Amino acid sequence: MIRAGVLSLQGAVPEHLRALTRAMEAEGLEGESVTVRESKDLEAIDCLVIPGGESTTIGKLLHRFNMHEPIRRRAAEGMPILGTCAGCILLAKSGDGTLEKAGIELLGLMDMSVSRNSYGRQKESFEVPLEIDGLVEDFPAIFIRGPEITETWGGCIPLAKLDDTAVMVRQGNLMALTFHPELSDDVRIHRMLLSLVTRT
Ligand code: GLN
Repeated sequence: MIRAGVLSLQGAVPEHLRALTRAMEAEGLEGESVTVRESKDLEAIDCLVIPGGESTTIGKLLHRFNMHEPIRRRAAEGMPILGTCAGCILLAKSGDGTLEKAGIELLGLMDMSVSRNSYGRQKESFEVPLEIDGLVEDFPAIFIRGPEITETWGGCIPLAKLDDTAVMVRQGNLMALTFHPELSDDVRIHRMLLSLVTRT
């Protein structure tokens, strides 16, 4: 019985809950997708999605609900976490200064720098077939005002690149992407997250 959590402070929450449920069905796993709104919810889950949305808003709410430390602790315990877009920004060790200037603390869990709003404005969103390490067929990656991963170091390994820039990375039990897997029908990235749970 797997409990897959989605951080539900702001952003693309229902889409990720649905994608996780479908991914469980595809993997033949029993379980449920649940919302995570406060730190005690983190104790009852086996993996966590930090969704896209506005990293400023999610970051402020994380602070208000004192969730930075509990998430860091669960990550250190080995709980798999997938951060998409705004979630990717919050997982990074270093930002482009805009969040820091607004007094917003990153979770700082992954060896990477990010720069916000690099992939165009809302109306310039685009979809591209993306080659991803570990997946046989290309993934339909939808980019919406995503951040750019400007640098990776240490244990942070690119799994996919677009024009020579990493757009999906993994560091042990942590994964981050600058696009929106929950907006396509393809649940293979959510299945990758679940497979990290079943392997640990
Ligand atoms: N632009 C958003 C931010 O900086 C991220 C965009 C997204 O999550 N789709 O937080």
